Amino acid sequence: MTTKATTQAIPPLQKNPLILFGRGIALYSDVKPEHISPAIHFLLEQAELAVQHATNPSTPPSWDALAEPLEDATESLGRSWSVISHLNSVADTPQLREAYGEMLPEVTAFFSSLGQNLTLYKKFKALSESEAFKHLSIDQKKVIENSLRDFRLGGAELAEVDKPRFTQIQDEQATLSKAFSDHVLDATDGFMHIVLDETQLKGLPEDAIAAAAEHAQQKNLQGWALTLHFPSYYPVMQYSENRALRKLMYEAYITRSSELAPQFGHGKTAWDNTANMLAQLRLRDEEAHLLGFPNYAALSLASKMARDVKEVDQFLIDIAQRAKPFAQKDWQELQDFAKSKLQLGGELQPWDIAFAAEQLKQERYSFSENELKQYFPLPKVLDGLFEVIQTLFGVYIKASNLPIWHSDVQSFAVSNATGELIAYFYLDPYARSGKRGGAWMDDARGRRQLANGEIQIPVAYLVCNFAPPVKVGGQLRQPTITHDDVITLFHESGHGLHHLLTQVGALGVSGINGVEWDAVELPSQFMENFCWEWEVLEKMTAHSQTGKSLPKELFEKMLSAKNFQNGLATLRQAVLSLTDWRLHSTFNAKEAQGLAVLDLSRKIASELNVIPQPEISRWPNTFSHIFAGGYAAGYYSYKWAEVLSADAYSAFEEVAKLTGTVLDADTGARYRTEILEVGGSRSAAESFKAFRGREPSIDALLRHGGMELKL
Ligand SMILES: [Zn+2]
Repeated sequence: MTTKATTQAIPPLQKNPLILFGRGIALYSDVKPEHISPAIHFLLEQAELAVQHATNPSTPPSWDALAEPLEDATESLGRSWSVISHLNSVADTPQLREAYGEMLPEVTAFFSSLGQNLTLYKKFKALSESEAFKHLSIDQKKVIENSLRDFRLGGAELAEVDKPRFTQIQDEQATLSKAFSDHVLDATDGFMHIVLDETQLKGLPEDAIAAAAEHAQQKNLQGWALTLHFPSYYPVMQYSENRALRKLMYEAYITRSSELAPQFGHGKTAWDNTANMLAQLRLRDEEAHLLGFPNYAALSLASKMARDVKEVDQFLIDIAQRAKPFAQKDWQELQDFAKSKLQLGGELQPWDIAFAAEQLKQERYSFSENELKQYFPLPKVLDGLFEVIQTLFGVYIKASNLPIWHSDVQSFAVSNATGELIAYFYLDPYARSGKRGGAWMDDARGRRQLANGEIQIPVAYLVCNFAPPVKVGGQLRQPTITHDDVITLFHESGHGLHHLLTQVGALGVSGINGVEWDAVELPSQFMENFCWEWEVLEKMTAHSQTGKSLPKELFEKMLSAKNFQNGLATLRQAVLSLTDWRLHSTFNAKEAQGLAVLDLSRKIASELNVIPQPEISRWPNTFSHIFAGGYAAGYYSYKWAEVLSADAYSAFEEVAKLTGTVLDADTGARYRTEILEVGGSRSAAESFKAFRGREPSIDALLRHGGMELKL
């Protein structure tokens, strides 16, 4: 009797591993799809209650009464949700996906309702204007300021009459952006070129030929089917010796989603994005004006590091002008090579460029990727990475035994020089079924000072998709990874360090939280530099058979190949970025018609580019980053962050000139304090200046890219 009563008295939630773990670390292997709905519904209710409490007229607008309890509730929800979305990414099953998908709209709706809650906005505003605000910590002040900014950008201060239109603009934008990407996909899917004679495929790698044959078979067709999807298209451009085939594929590719593209019976304008682009630009312009900005580029900068529209424009012009002479040299080199070695007949055409470049690269720097890979066994690389981190930042990394979700996963503890535990992280290295592709860092838990003064230490996931170890003759071979994989690992570990070494106590700006997004790639790209340092590579490599470290000669070749044709590549990125930037700043979207977007891109290309833009090119019509991917007036961020990371790294190179090593602990300690520890608690511009002692300069990036200014 008693036993039964006790069992009945335990609410099922108390056995739910998505709630049980509190501030601890989830027992991932205990989480079942049926836990998701009850746990998330319970946590959503708790979070709603916290919002009701925060917006209650009797709740004083103070950190302790308003901000802290709200953060508690939303963090609990966010952390459980992060366990589920993490498992959905790394250990997907149909049941888990269904349970996740079922709750996703409710969770998304809750978080977006926070940004629309005007009573909450007024409370936060009252807090920012109160006497008590002056006594908050820097971190806390920054959290409040950021949320006020986000409320404003979300339309909180709009006049009542403008609000419906503002919402309508958001909806229309979402619809147009979805249509843009659907058109690109349909136009890409809608093209197929069948080759019936294998000699037409001369030069293509075996795997590309096999993939084309398989694709034809799937469609019940004879021969080989080539498509405009990158893995099918690009090998043709790069390797096919058949110039007519290259031309045919190239022309189909650069006219996708335009008025020039064949629509394959779907109507003349079925997938044409020309009008879509103008409509989106008009809406963005209108949105910016409603919010009180002169244009969308200025609105985009409200949450970025760059100061004003002119600064970004000038930044891109500077990069382009500095890269131009090198691009001219690259272009000349390619033309000379084609003339003397390729016998193409006539001028080098746009569809010859990737092919000629690949041939020239092979002639100059050929080395076997597979042979190179033998020098990078994963355990050796990990030791090398940890050695770099430990030497630079004065921390210790030791294997740990946190609960895991798969037997491949390893966990590590990070402690300070004094032995104090400061963080944990997971490494999930290998590709497997049920795991999403790519590599990423995600936070399992952020650093936070709790109301009782305790410190909640951060936990990070580092997820990669390296080729798993294989069995040969019944023996498991030591896993080796490519040099690109090594760079990926260092990159993600840079994001990880930003999250793990933070000293900030307010969750909203601790680690990578609240960092301006044109600066968020600084710590990650910074770490990549070490993958090109001889002193690091020499120690981090051991041939899987001989145990010997990487030969210096091979390293030199890798280095030259890295910067091959970099002038042209840099110029291309500058043109893309400037087109995005000017479409959102100087472009008159209201009055623009027809091919105005293309005209602007041509004008920029004719001023800056070295290779003429072909008449038929309609590349803006597939520029998904800015018309379907959240990079509108933000494409420059790639170069911006590269400049910051290269310039930060050059501080280590300067010391190395005196000491002979880039692994300088003093400079590392300063980098840790000024960049990594402060997270989003101050502006990235201030952090950079505090570390470097001056404003960022583009010199280091150009030098690393083989484009040194010779005075
Ligand atoms: Zn990154």
